[in-house]
Amino acid sequence: MKPGIFIDRDGTLIREVNYLHKPDQVILISGMSEAIKRANEIGIPVIVISNQSGVGRGFFTLEDVFRVHRHIDEVLLDSGAFITGWFVCPHLPPAGKSPISDCSCRKPKPGLFLEAAGIHGIDLFKSVMVGDKSIDIEAGKALSMQTGLVETGYGRKTLAESELFKPDFVFTTASVALHFFLDQYEKLLN
Ligand SMILES: [Mg+2]
Ligand SMILES: [Zn+2]
Repeated sequence: MKPGIFIDRDGTLIREVNYLHKPDQVILISGMSEAIKRANEIGIPVIVISNQSGVGRGFFTLEDVFRVHRHIDEVLLDSGAFITGWFVCPHLPPAGKSPISDCSCRKPKPGLFLEAAGIHGIDLFKSVMVGDKSIDIEAGKALSMQTGLVETGYGRKTLAESELFKPDFVFTTASVALHFFLDQYEKLLN
């Protein structure tokens, strides 16, 4: 089984916009196309794991989320890059009004990571998780992945606030993170 690169969407792959749900709100974090393309070329899956509670709150639909993802796919494809798999939790946070919404897929829970690993043949122990929030780091750590916190999105706030979690690495952007981890993988492969 191969290693995988797991990344968060909002504030990590694309610029943070509160409850983003339209393609024209999408701005890729700089360098992401090139970094993802490099992963694609050496056969390392790039998996996006995203909490989209705006769906559960009724702010937008799952179809809106998919439309945004198709748009990102098109933008990446212009550079010859692609996301291996998109995985979304559309549910409310467990502290939300409805106790029914306590799902098993909302980060930091491992549901979507395990699903993605099964579908794409990924060894989580060899994998990394990159994100801008403590839930991203917690999720990665819970699955014994290497973790990278980015300074984009909520990253700086996350760094300043939390003593409860410790990412393995801090990166200015996710593209820097991807190149760092891809350097590691290439050394292992060679
Ligand atoms: Mg985020
Ligand atoms: Zn969920």
